[in-house]
Amino acid sequence: MERTLSIIKPDGVSRGLIGEVIKRFEANGIKIIAMKMVHLTLKDAQAFYAVHKERPFFNSLTDFMISGPIVPMILEGENVIEKNRTLMGATNFKEAAEGTIRRDFATDIEKNIVHGSDSPETAAAEMAFFFNHFEINQR
Ligand code: ATP
Ligand code: MG
Repeated sequence: MERTLSIIKPDGVSRGLIGEVIKRFEANGIKIIAMKMVHLTLKDAQAFYAVHKERPFFNSLTDFMISGPIVPMILEGENVIEKNRTLMGATNFKEAAEGTIRRDFATDIEKNIVHGSDSPETAAAEMAFFFNHFEINQR
């Protein structure tokens, strides 16, 4: 069993897509074992996206990520890191496959509804960023 961090970004929350995203995870056999709603500070968002700090879109991305509350979740399942990335679709919604979350709902390359960890290492760090041991459940 593998675990990964998913985030419903501020655009997904404000557009009423929390249920839609969760429905897709559950319909695909993915278990949610931790979940909450948080509103990051700028410092938090800069720390979370530190890998992108040299990118031209860093300031815009971190401003977007603090523009409203977000819903981080820990997903569990077989091969769930890749499975979640497949359900999300490509970063740029114009290149995302049909039926993916980003293809169906994203409005631009930045406001793309969801985040998903991209490796076991980033998953471990990102899960620890949002959740304490007592917030992660056995199901
Ligand atoms: P995420 O890390 O959010 O799951 P990703 O792994 O598909 O997305 P990354 O390359 O890690 O994509 O970029 C992180 C986020 O930064 C993207 O999801 C998007 O919100 C934003 N982003 C990426 N590339 C651009 C860009 N060229 N212009 C504006 N925003 C971008
Ligand atoms: Mg990424």
